[in-house]
Amino acid sequence: MPASIEPVPKLTLYTGPDESPAARPAQPPARPAKPDLGWLAEQSQRLEAASPPEIIAWAVEHYFPKLTMATAFGPEGCLILHWLAEIEPRTPVFNLDTGYQFQETLELRDRIAERYGIEVELKQPELSVEQYEALHGGPLYKTNPDRCCFDRKISVLKQAAVGMDAWMSGIRRDQSPDRAKAPIVGWDKKFALVKISPLANWTKQQVWKMIVEHDIPYNPLHDQGYASIGCWPCTRSVMFGEDERAGRWSGTAKTECGLHTLEEKE
Ligand code: SF4
Repeated sequence: MPASIEPVPKLTLYTGPDESPAARPAQPPARPAKPDLGWLAEQSQRLEAASPPEIIAWAVEHYFPKLTMATAFGPEGCLILHWLAEIEPRTPVFNLDTGYQFQETLELRDRIAERYGIEVELKQPELSVEQYEALHGGPLYKTNPDRCCFDRKISVLKQAAVGMDAWMSGIRRDQSPDRAKAPIVGWDKKFALVKISPLANWTKQQVWKMIVEHDIPYNPLHDQGYASIGCWPCTRSVMFGEDERAGRWSGTAKTECGLHTLEEKE
């Protein structure tokens, strides 16, 4: 470890419902009230040398109970849930349920609940798919996918963020050029939250190794060639040698739904 990087505090595991609530701090430890970007950058740099569970423990220590996590039940999200079940299973976790998710994805939510006791909340947009398509004269994913993602994902996350200080995501830097500069910890201006990405510096191989070794539930569509899974109208399986995210909005210039883009930087 470089001398300039402070050692990461030892991981403190949540030991289950027998642990006295009184033994846990009522409030997270003191931190700068509103985003001190220098402090966040310093923490992010320090956590580059930490393992993902240590990063999750850091997030819990500093932000729980105002810490949340969004997951689309990708392998990274399932892996974070695996660790979160030990570290702080009371962390609220949600899924942006656009109404266009695969049945296999929704069933994975139930398998996670069964395995870990974590009930991922499905956050839905105000309008059902039927109402939304009637309003716009048909499915917007065909004509204006940016607007569809905004209405059915981004605005829903903005609502879910109310009252929270931080959110965790499962993005990895090696997933795409859009994500290559993701810090471990940073300020997400779009949602006015601190964003923590415990797997930012992990590889796809590391993630799948953990999933296989620990028999962590994952979406069976991955076994059918779907490398990255979003809504069914905007996802296809990929061919051998194709980019991991080539099956998302295939045939268009769109590469991200907007949740993880950095265009609104400070
Ligand atoms: S991924 Fe496709 S269907 Fe899902 S919200 Fe975005 S445009 Fe709509």
